[in-house]
Amino acid sequence: MKRSHLLVYVVGFAALLLFPVGITNPYYIHLLETIMIYAIVLFGLDIVVGYTGQVSLGHAGLFGVGAYTAGVLVTKLGAPLLVALVAAVGVTAIFGALLALPALRVTGPYLAMVTLAFGTIVQILINEMDFLTSGPMGIKLTKPPLLGHQLDEREFFWLVAVLLILSLVVVHRILRSHLGRAFEALRGSPVASDCMGVSVYRYKVYAFVISAGFAGLAGSLYAYSEQYISPNTYNFELTVLFLLAVIMGGRKSRIGAMLGAAIIVLLPKLLDDVVLFRYVSVGLALLVLATALIGIRKDRTTVKQMAIPVVGSVALAGLSFWLQTMTDWRLSIFGVIMLFVVYYLQDGIVGFVRNALNLRTRPTDDAESEDASHLPAVSDALSTAKAGAGELLSATGVLMQFGGLKALNNVDLSVRRGTIHGLIGPNGSGKSTMMNVLTGIYVPTAGALTFAGKSLVGRTSSDIALSGIARTFQNVQLFGEMTALQNVMVGLHHTFDSNLLDVSLHLPRYKRENLQATARGMALLKFVGLAALAHEEARNLPYGKQRLLEIARALALDPQLLLLDEPAAGLTAPDIKELISFIRKIREHGVTVILIEHHMDVVMSMCDTVSVLDFGQKIAEGDPAKVQADEKVIEAYLGGTAA
Ligand code: ADP
Ligand code: MG
Repeated sequence: MKRSHLLVYVVGFAALLLFPVGITNPYYIHLLETIMIYAIVLFGLDIVVGYTGQVSLGHAGLFGVGAYTAGVLVTKLGAPLLVALVAAVGVTAIFGALLALPALRVTGPYLAMVTLAFGTIVQILINEMDFLTSGPMGIKLTKPPLLGHQLDEREFFWLVAVLLILSLVVVHRILRSHLGRAFEALRGSPVASDCMGVSVYRYKVYAFVISAGFAGLAGSLYAYSEQYISPNTYNFELTVLFLLAVIMGGRKSRIGAMLGAAIIVLLPKLLDDVVLFRYVSVGLALLVLATALIGIRKDRTTVKQMAIPVVGSVALAGLSFWLQTMTDWRLSIFGVIMLFVVYYLQDGIVGFVRNALNLRTRPTDDAESEDASHLPAVSDALSTAKAGAGELLSATGVLMQFGGLKALNNVDLSVRRGTIHGLIGPNGSGKSTMMNVLTGIYVPTAGALTFAGKSLVGRTSSDIALSGIARTFQNVQLFGEMTALQNVMVGLHHTFDSNLLDVSLHLPRYKRENLQATARGMALLKFVGLAALAHEEARNLPYGKQRLLEIARALALDPQLLLLDEPAAGLTAPDIKELISFIRKIREHGVTVILIEHHMDVVMSMCDTVSVLDFGQKIAEGDPAKVQADEKVIEAYLGGTAA
């Protein structure tokens, strides 16, 4: 963390801890306490929404599970505070795993519906399970004792503040680690995640479980804070508010989560009081105006981009003076503000300010905070693959049927170790389908596939990737919002053994693995000539560089077999030359390559063997010169394109 940031945090938290000393009104103490508790929920929700890109409308339900776990344990068993908190985290995490199950099958609006149903079911269960929860009557609690000392309002506030800080640190560390990268990779490209050995299935569940753990912690604190819980609290409105808070504050940001929490707690109060509302809306308008002016002067944004936020906030301020009372307008204004933010500030308030003031996004990753010049030297990016001769991959009688279409029809393929094996054929002949079958994206309708002596059929993509097959995609599949280095480090995910504890506490194992992976990642970027662009977001790289980055990421898996699907497509002539030299170097390190390519000069100059597909059938095979002269090949393919 940068010094200036650390200072901001230290001052912020000192202020937080001193708050109940300066302000003794219990109303305000309770208000801030609620904000902190919501912030803990939002830290967790942001993992699911901001990082993995899934929608969850089930988090109010999880919050309720946490609250009731604590409530029931305290009233039924007289559990002490620490036991109640830990149990709430554990039980809610289990519910989080349940909530993850639908996320494995559906996404988008369907997932939103299913998670919403989950929340409703939790609410109904709480209502119906009278014997535990006292049903609609709710449960009454008192502020708990901690280690024999009865906490008062203020001391409980401090407890919440400390847990907020701890949660912040832990969430932050998780998200900056290989786990956070795995979550973010899911959002960027699930297919590519799986093919980099990062199981989408597993990490979706992890994300929901960790997220639920925080909701559980917050829920249990909420039960003590309110001293009364009833099923009505954990309703549709709350769950929508949570989601809006993450989006409004700004996803993928801890400050955004805290801001979002403050907004959803304070905004309804604010809208109760017209005088206060006037002050705040004028203040907000001035703030937006200032941000916009600075942004425009720094050439970071245009007048056009800033017009709507500025006009909107000024209009809101105007409206506040025109209104005499708020009561009739409360809900409408609340709704309009929400809509406004969601439509026009898609990156939330934090994103808006960052963008307008040209604050470079802070390093979001432990890799980026390592200074590469101090890293242990990695003499070579590629570790040499196991030597040996003979067959590495064999496919026999592979049939891949899509409805009536046989995309692959009885194809045999044998790839020898250490060779570059070309796969050519006209568009739609089944080349990419072959790669998808080899990497477990499709399960072949019939046929056998053997890699290094083991069958590939029926295994998951991530399992196949970890066994030594890496690939690139015909349509580049990078993790767009992640930097070049982070992309490569997703490929290095397999080099991490660290668990949640190692990451949260920054234990030596994690530090060592992180340092090594960062060095490897930088070395791989250097290998493909992208070291200077290591901290650039992948989506901002030129197309040719994106293709090279994809190759570097694939190499990070330490593959025995590398599948390249039209790597030269869209590249300029000098880039293609460079690409050829990379592929040669890759082979020199003992990596076997299957190369799909339309550029005949590339294929003919590099490949040891070439197989030709046409309409899903292999029509020719052999050394390049022989294939090039083959009648059938000329007729099907070369005659048209290579002339
Ligand atoms: P190539 O890479 O050789 O250009 P592909 O392997 O992408 O060809 O496609 C081979 C054939 O299989 C095409 O006719 C394509 O439309 C079809 N195909 C590929 N994937 C699917 C799919 N998921 N569903 C249906 N048809 C598919
Ligand atoms: Mg293709």
